[in-house]
Amino acid sequence: MKVLVVNAGSSSIKYQVFDMTDESVLAKGLVDRVGIPGTTLEHKPAGKDEVVIKKDLPDHTAGMKLVLDALVDKEYGCIKSMDELGAVGHRVVHGGEGFANSVIIDDNVKKVIKDCFAIAPLHNPPNLMGIDACQELMPNIPHVAAFDTAFHQTMEPANYMYALPYDVYEKYRVRRYGFHGTSHYYVAHRAADMLGKPYEECKIVTLHLGNGGSMAAIKDGKVVDTSMGFTPLEGLVMGTRSGDVDPAVVFFLMEKLGMDAVEANSFFNKKSGMLGLSGVSNDLRDVEEAANSGNERAKIAMQVYINKIKGYIGNYIAKLNGCDCLVFTAGVGENGIDIRESICSDLDYLGIKMDAEKNKVRGKEVDLAADDSKVRIFLIPTNEELVIARDTVALATAK
Ligand code: ADP
Repeated sequence: MKVLVVNAGSSSIKYQVFDMTDESVLAKGLVDRVGIPGTTLEHKPAGKDEVVIKKDLPDHTAGMKLVLDALVDKEYGCIKSMDELGAVGHRVVHGGEGFANSVIIDDNVKKVIKDCFAIAPLHNPPNLMGIDACQELMPNIPHVAAFDTAFHQTMEPANYMYALPYDVYEKYRVRRYGFHGTSHYYVAHRAADMLGKPYEECKIVTLHLGNGGSMAAIKDGKVVDTSMGFTPLEGLVMGTRSGDVDPAVVFFLMEKLGMDAVEANSFFNKKSGMLGLSGVSNDLRDVEEAANSGNERAKIAMQVYINKIKGYIGNYIAKLNGCDCLVFTAGVGENGIDIRESICSDLDYLGIKMDAEKNKVRGKEVDLAADDSKVRIFLIPTNEELVIARDTVALATAK
């Protein structure tokens, strides 16, 4: 079966087409600036040159139409006709407490995605727009939703409850959910393969370090804890997100800076993190370069970033009562050689010892640990799209 995987953001649509007979990628691409003047489609068919199409588009349906036209194009397409597509898999950020697995999208699923608009205002509305656009253009094939929150639904109340009056959980579902679940799922399963142990018997700490970042502690096949919470703002220091702060800072700054709730939300999500602290950039490469050339704020930002991660490693090893492996993934985790080394330095008390030579590598599945390290340190490039494509085929072909 050939499967289209779609990740619709507020002004972008990322996609990949898989041939699931051998899990090969036939084409991938990105529509950028949907609904904003200057829309572009970058379409990369396997084994052919990338094509860039510029055409202003009003909405996600027009964006998806442009993608589908590219997929069947005689010159740079990857399928002869739309009939070759057997199903579509959609990335959806928030599934609330409703879904612990991917599901075929029906009216009820759409209602749950909509019910989560209030708690994921930046992500769920465009995700649903992508689903609506695809269903309009491809009404006769199954559409599947894969939720970023699903993998973390095995967490127990001990780790997902906030110490707030209980009725805010009952009334508004205020609790910790966790995100990047598809990525944590993929790398945790690959890690078990690399350990040569059944997944259900492993203790794994996964570090998804991209522009957004989160960690997860996994034991006996279940997520025990993860660093993102009610929204993707909690936890690690990220490109533009603060991660953990004393909540009193929010009230204090709202008063001092005269911010309302919407402005405060944007302050902590978009102006903070590495960007706010360093004043250089949200991109770790830029901050690292500035730090190496003596920029003091950038140096502090790098230290805060790394210390926060070290803290979560200790936290999670305590909660797991042990650890078979750490797993680095996503942009920074896969490419940030010095950052990985700094994170793993001085953790030998916990049985973590990196081999600095083995660590000089990017984007490959490899063990970076020293031979005498008790804990393995894996680098595993993530592949969220493949997980979505696999779930989509499984659900589309289930009797
Ligand atoms: P997103 O969360 O947007 O999916 P990615 O997983 O693609 O992010 O990661 C993007 C981030 O990876 C960039 O912001 C950059 O900070 C980081 N990155 C990429 N290459 C390197 C590198 N060589 N060293 C350090 N950081 C890197």
